[in-house]
Amino acid sequence: MTDCLFCKIAAGTIPVTPIFEDDRVIAFADINPQAPTHFLVIPREHFADVTQVPAELLGHLLHAAARVAETQLPHGHRIAINTGPDGGQTVQHVHLHVLGGRPMGWPPG
Ligand code: 5GP
Repeated sequence: MTDCLFCKIAAGTIPVTPIFEDDRVIAFADINPQAPTHFLVIPREHFADVTQVPAELLGHLLHAAARVAETQLPHGHRIAINTGPDGGQTVQHVHLHVLGGRPMGWPPG
């Protein structure tokens, strides 16, 4: 989608420093981190939210997030997918948040 921020990041139109990337996904630091480590994992292909993502790609996104978290966050991490207005989603291109580097509270706000 031409008007989508994360499509532009995936296409390289808006440059980011990839933490991880392959032919289907890219991980990069969140611009407004909510923890000492906070990165996003997105598919290169546009899907508005998690309800739209095919199962195999969803598994690949989660696998990529877990692999990067495993190497960067040895004390643990949280993976979150905000969805829709009640879920707090602000960018309408599905993304996994990976947060760590501090103890996480529960329940989330
Ligand atoms: P959401 O609120 O949709 O779950 O998460 C969107 C995330 O995208 C937010 O954490 C926000 O800080 C991040 N974000 C928004 N614009 C940019 C950007 O231009 N670059 C990066 N790296 N992150 C962004």
